[in-house]
Amino acid sequence: MTPWDYRIGQGYDVHAIAEGLPMWLGGVRIDSPSGFVAHSDGDVAIHALCDALLGALALGDIGHLFPDTDDKWKGADSKKLLDIVIRRIWQNGWELCNADITIALQAPKIARYVPDMRKVLAGIMEVQEDRVSVKATTTERLGFVGRGEGCEVWAVVLLKRRIL
Ligand code: MG
Repeated sequence: MTPWDYRIGQGYDVHAIAEGLPMWLGGVRIDSPSGFVAHSDGDVAIHALCDALLGALALGDIGHLFPDTDDKWKGADSKKLLDIVIRRIWQNGWELCNADITIALQAPKIARYVPDMRKVLAGIMEVQEDRVSVKATTTERLGFVGRGEGCEVWAVVLLKRRIL
C-alpha cells in the first residue's frame, strides 16, 4: 500500500503577440522583436504552469488569484506569481512530482532557451531539473499560432502528499 496521495493538474493559456513588447517565456527573456500582450509580463508558460498547480488542488486559477483589474499585478514578474502559487501548494502539505510544459510558438525558435527555462522553473519550485520538462513546437504555420498571432501553452503537473 502506498503511503502517498496523488493529484494531477492541467493548465492552459494563450497570449497575443505584438511588436515592440518584451517576450518572457518560462521565466526567461527571449530575444525577439515582439512579445506578449498582457496585464503582467505575459509569461504564458508560467501562467499555464500556475493553473496546472492550482488545478491539481482545486484552488481556482491565476485570473482569480491575481486579477487583471488589480494594479498590483500590472507588469508583474510571473516568476513572482509562480513563487506565490508553489507556496500555496506547499502550505497544503503537497510537493511537486513533476511538471511537463508544451509551448506552441511559430517564431522565434525557442529550443535554445529550454535548458534555462527548466533551470529557472525548477529553482522556483525547489525540485531537480529532471522533474521539469519544457517542450517547444510550432504548429506548421497553421492556425493563430502558425500565423504568429499568439502563443499557446499546455502544462500538466503531478503532486503528491504523504497520507498521515
Ligand atoms: Mg496569461
